[in-house]
Amino acid sequence: MPADLHVHTNFSDGTDSPEVVVEKAKNAGITEMAITDHDVVDGIDRAAKKGRDLGVEVIPGIEFTTEALGAEIHILGYYIDHHDHTLLKTIKKIQKSREERIFKICEKLKELGISLEAEKVFEIAGHRAAGRPHIARAMIKEGYVRNFKEAFGKYIDFHGPAYVAHYKLSPEEAIKLVIAAKGIPVYAHPAVSNCDQIIPDLISAGLAGIEVYYPGHNREQTAHYLDITKKYALLATGGSDYHGKRSGREIGIGYVSITDDLMEKIRSEYLHRNKPRGD
Ligand code: AMP
Ligand code: ZN
Ligand code: FE
Ligand code: FE
Repeated sequence: MPADLHVHTNFSDGTDSPEVVVEKAKNAGITEMAITDHDVVDGIDRAAKKGRDLGVEVIPGIEFTTEALGAEIHILGYYIDHHDHTLLKTIKKIQKSREERIFKICEKLKELGISLEAEKVFEIAGHRAAGRPHIARAMIKEGYVRNFKEAFGKYIDFHGPAYVAHYKLSPEEAIKLVIAAKGIPVYAHPAVSNCDQIIPDLISAGLAGIEVYYPGHNREQTAHYLDITKKYALLATGGSDYHGKRSGREIGIGYVSITDDLMEKIRSEYLHRNKPRGD
């Protein structure tokens, strides 16, 4: 049965509630899904409850935003204990930093002649741990740009004039946080980061898998990353990176999914890594 292991809710920059993403997954024929919000775990319990009602298995997950070697690297964590104390402590710090970052982005935009109120951005997000998609939506709403492409392309891309760095977290630190919370760490959409030279370092830190199947990966990239998983004996995972209709991304939930045998390998790696000592 197909599994979609990359789904965002409105607790980060998705536009659907946890209940709605689970409903949409059910309607798309998805039987297992992971909630992977950016730097936040607050949507998991609500999604899991809806999942129990509808017969969809919800895997607790997260997507950490990190930076290394001048690239943005996203680290997914699956089967995390989302009540883990250290994990929650770090998440709290990241969320505070996300809030401050929105003020900083608004200041930079002001210097570029764009007047956005941070409070308006938080209002669009529905929370204060906001991100660039919420900035983009505010810019569109105020008529400064026509669409997401223009907002990111002209202003808030990683190399754009209004970009502000995130809370300083390395991919290795994110991997260690996921492992400490009993999770399975996975390198998200590697072709988007385009930073293969980091893979050996990630493996040394405990990386378990690579997100091979991804809407933004073309056929060659998918084959390339599948080869890498074979070379290093890593798991191959995949998902749609669903963000909802109003998110500036049109990809539907379940657009990319993985099969039972891959899912089974991920599950057994999780069980293997968390075997009681002495077994
Ligand atoms: P942030 O968490 O603030 O760094 O924002 C990153 C998020 O912005 C990504 O996870 C995507 O959801 C979204 N994003 C990044 N680049 C683009 C783009 N060019 N167009 C639309 N959305 C984007
Ligand atoms: Zn996002
Ligand atoms: Fe990502
Ligand atoms: Fe994502």
